[in-house]
Amino acid sequence: MTAPVRILIVGGGYVGMYVALRLQRKLRRGEARITVVNIDSYMTYQPFLPEAAAGNVEARHVVVPLRRVLHKCEILNGWVAGVDPVARTADLCLHEGPGRTLEYDILVFAPGSISRTLPIPGLAGSGIGFKSVEEAIHLRDHVLGQLDLAESTTDRAVRAKALSFVFVGAGYAGVEALAELEDMARDVCRYYPTVDPGDMRWLLVEASDRILPEVGPEMGRWTLEQLRGRGIDVRLGTRLNSAVDGHIVLDDGTEFDADTLVWTAGVKPNPLVHVSGLPLDEKSRVKASADLVVEGFPDVFTAGDCAAVPDLTKPGEMCAPNAQNAVRQARTLADNVVATLRGRVRRPYRHAYAGSVATLGLHKGVAQIYGRKIRGLPAWFMHRTYHLSRVPTVNKKVRVLTDWTLGLFFKREIVSLGAISDPRQEFELAIRTESRVPSSR
Ligand SMILES: Cc1cc2nc3c(=O)[nH]c(=O)nc-3n(C[C@H](O)[C@H](O)[C@H](O)COP(=O)(O)OP(=O)(O)OC[C@H]3O[C@@H](n4cnc5c(N)ncnc54)[C@H](O)[C@@H]3O)c2cc1C
Repeated sequence: MTAPVRILIVGGGYVGMYVALRLQRKLRRGEARITVVNIDSYMTYQPFLPEAAAGNVEARHVVVPLRRVLHKCEILNGWVAGVDPVARTADLCLHEGPGRTLEYDILVFAPGSISRTLPIPGLAGSGIGFKSVEEAIHLRDHVLGQLDLAESTTDRAVRAKALSFVFVGAGYAGVEALAELEDMARDVCRYYPTVDPGDMRWLLVEASDRILPEVGPEMGRWTLEQLRGRGIDVRLGTRLNSAVDGHIVLDDGTEFDADTLVWTAGVKPNPLVHVSGLPLDEKSRVKASADLVVEGFPDVFTAGDCAAVPDLTKPGEMCAPNAQNAVRQARTLADNVVATLRGRVRRPYRHAYAGSVATLGLHKGVAQIYGRKIRGLPAWFMHRTYHLSRVPTVNKKVRVLTDWTLGLFFKREIVSLGAISDPRQEFELAIRTESRVPSSR
């Protein structure tokens, strides 16, 4: 009897999880052993992060526990620190204790992307990204915490800084995150008698001359008008020069203090690509052919944000890094792994961009689907129905739908659980006071 083929999947995000799901369904018992390595124990449905940040969806409902859905796979939580595609090994580091070397016969390389940052003074100390559920939870608590602070302080400078929110980068992550959070903050202002929505400063800084390119120029302009109509200050053709200690300096000369700086200026391939031994293009993406095989390594497959996959619908261009491509590539990739194992012909990935839907806050949205331009409530409804149909597992669909339904009847939660990032604070206080106060015994 031949030993099962060892399939190693690096990354349990869109590509990794969907590939594993399809492989565990398609492969025969004993045909292969699938191992998925992911930093966290869950996959994040990123398009729902803005709604999670705004409290319209419970944060735990936008993540999928890998162990529950990938019951025929081995799940390892840790991170791959390097790959040797010649020796067919990957180095696994664990969150604690010694790591180990994993051997494979077939590698699926899908560690995705990270935020693309610039060496701007103060950015590392003051900024936060918007790619993970932890960041979304933090931002929600942080914005509510700033409103609490503004209501409680009598210091004008502290108040102005607390009520200033700066977002850099106007792709869908930046626009959706800002629009949803502003909508939430405006909505909850009624519980803060001294904070008028007009007291808040929401600023979106974009280096190019347009926003939301994903929905096309016309709908991008419409979105710009909508945001400006809500009092959001959108600066096009503008860059952040520095943000030292929260002091924001733009290249148009504007200067002010802000306690909130969200960096959403695009993504770049995960740095793991540089220690993967795989061929990279000029944008550091792993070079793949249309059948999602890495150039020069017939036993390594790749897809998603870290990969340069030719877009067969636009000769000469590469597929854009988005969920639309990631999910569909995952399907083709899994089928090609099965084809390779069974000696069949692999098929190329081909998908024409369908367009995009974006949420701009409760009952507000924008979309361009197959050339059809949709605005306002219908676009928002479309955003919700589309993503509800896409979020993995029936369990999560029901939970998200329940959150939305409850949101129709009850007001949203306005509690900032800021201490969640430092839960030992209270206990440490107890220890400190205990050592100062003489024992009563
Ligand atoms: C806020 C936001 C909203 C978005 N909205 C949309 C949208 O509306 N429509 C759309 O099409 N796209 C959207 N996207 C983009 C979409 O989510 C990504 O294109 C998609 O997630 C890419 O899939 P991926 O599998 O390549 O990467 P990911 O889904 O990011 O998965 C990568 C996985 O690899 C893991 N990993 C990283 N390094 C290692 C390592 N060294 N070892 C082990 N594991 C590792 C990560 O933890 C992660 O789980 C959005 C993105 C964001 C941030």
